[in-house]
Amino acid sequence: MSKQGIVYFVGAGPGDPKLITMRGLECLQEADCIVYDRLANPELIKHAKVDVETIFCGKLPDHHTLTQDEINAVLIEKAKEGKNVVRLKGGDPAVFGRVGEEADFCKKHGIPYEMIPGITAGIAAPLYAGIPITHREHSTSFACITGHALGTDMTDTRWQGLADSIDSLVFYMGIKNLPIIATKLVEHGKAPETPTAVIEWGTTEKQRVAVGTLGTIVQVMEEQQLKNPAIIIVGDVVGLREQLKWWENDL
Ligand code: SAH
Repeated sequence: MSKQGIVYFVGAGPGDPKLITMRGLECLQEADCIVYDRLANPELIKHAKVDVETIFCGKLPDHHTLTQDEINAVLIEKAKEGKNVVRLKGGDPAVFGRVGEEADFCKKHGIPYEMIPGITAGIAAPLYAGIPITHREHSTSFACITGHALGTDMTDTRWQGLADSIDSLVFYMGIKNLPIIATKLVEHGKAPETPTAVIEWGTTEKQRVAVGTLGTIVQVMEEQQLKNPAIIIVGDVVGLREQLKWWENDL
């Protein structure tokens, strides 16, 4: 009987290739096949064996190069050939990364797997912008929220709870819905003066940051035109950027 393969779900980190974990790097070095997304920095593939097979599965905002079913199928197929498969995902595989579905598919097909966490963009991009997500004086809680919930008008989002109870709000995939997000938060009681930032390509050399308030951020974005991938961060911690920013100074 041929050797059984394995699937490693590896968090690639948010963009800067050095932010992968040591365990993630080890998996890459042992990989026979790497299945990677647009947001996993392709620089990381340089750490793999020279004859590694690479499969790009896209996930561009408007079209998928491989469908989710095709991704699932390719993971199983390669593992059944006895390969060490790395499923490399941007950030953390479990934060809006569909690792649950892919791992479930492996389980159903008797394929063993490991899940290796990664640093998620929602924490790392603010930090590279000089915005610590919590702070003893400014924020005792944070939440990561999808800005692209099923149903595009975001009626399923629990706005009241977010507005009332969470100090720092981080929206992923929210650029298109930024006007809805800003309006809903103000409608549910967040002050229009709440500092708000958008960070594009955080932790990379292309990082750009737009800063405003809940009341002004839509206008600021119209002027600065930041695009995906970008996160939106809402909360007083954004105000710390002026004094703490460091990454752009180094470029
Ligand atoms: N699993 C990923 C998130 C995938 S959802 C993670 O843990 O980071 C994709 C969204 O993540 C993008 O639409 C964007 O909102 C955010 N994102 C990913 N990388 C980013 C980066 N370098 N800078 C800003 N936002 C990023």
